[in-house]
Amino acid sequence: MVVSSSEAAEIKVGSGTLHSRSPQYRAEITRSFARAQRLVDSLIGIPVRPHFELYVADTKSEFDSLTGGAAPDWGGAVTMPSLGRIVIKTPALGQQEKSLGELVAHEYAHIALHHAVGGPPPRWLDEGFAMLVATEWRFEDYIALASANLFHQLIPLAEIERVNALDAGQAQVAYAECYAVVTHFFEQYGASSFRMVLAELRAGRNQNMALRRAIGVDMHGFQVEAFTAIDARFSFLGAFVDSNVFWMALAGLTVAGFVAARLRRRRRLRESEEEERRDRLAEGALWTEPTDTTPEDGA
Ligand SMILES: [Zn+2]
Repeated sequence: MVVSSSEAAEIKVGSGTLHSRSPQYRAEITRSFARAQRLVDSLIGIPVRPHFELYVADTKSEFDSLTGGAAPDWGGAVTMPSLGRIVIKTPALGQQEKSLGELVAHEYAHIALHHAVGGPPPRWLDEGFAMLVATEWRFEDYIALASANLFHQLIPLAEIERVNALDAGQAQVAYAECYAVVTHFFEQYGASSFRMVLAELRAGRNQNMALRRAIGVDMHGFQVEAFTAIDARFSFLGAFVDSNVFWMALAGLTVAGFVAARLRRRRRLRESEEEERRDRLAEGALWTEPTDTTPEDGA
């Protein structure tokens, strides 16, 4: 289907073109883009200037036609690196949990990484890098990852290749996992090793060989190491449920709740006694001593 984007105003953003009818979105995107581009350049180590067209789709049907209807339901934005096209659903549709700035940074990071590697990078690396650039990390991601870790449901990195086929819940685990794995990579091996991996991928080596040459471990070894790091960092939930800590905490909470309820009951009783006393006072049924009967100090 041919999409008419002629009404959408066009402006240059970096090495690309932004199409949006909204002046507000154009301003917001320009600001977020500048930050994302700086971060991407610093992580990749060289200025990357891919050509791209960024569309803000104002309706669901415009989004579908610009993306060829290939986006999963949970997708708020789609990048087609081979076409150099980024399509973002307008925040006005109210389906976005993420800000326009986060979406732009995330999608631009994909375009830049594909450009740097000269083709599609491994999906776990691609998504983790994009999340890092967009600094996307929410409490829900923590819970999703901690729960998946607890129930041994972390997704093997090779399976993340088909993330678009996952349901929304699994996709959330996959994305959180990518973020944690790529963060682990940077913490453990640094940006210089990341650049070596990119260079190896650009030279046409597969991810297994690229990792071996850059950091000395293959995919399996790296996954074991990354999952161990996730377990160390996200096992708080596990420690809580597995051990007596959970039951002690539960018992503590129950006792605290019981005490709080008693205190509340007592306070209510005191308040109603006080109220009753005030009522009787107001009716003149009680006489209280004037307050100035305290004996004076000093003798
Ligand atoms: Zn992505």
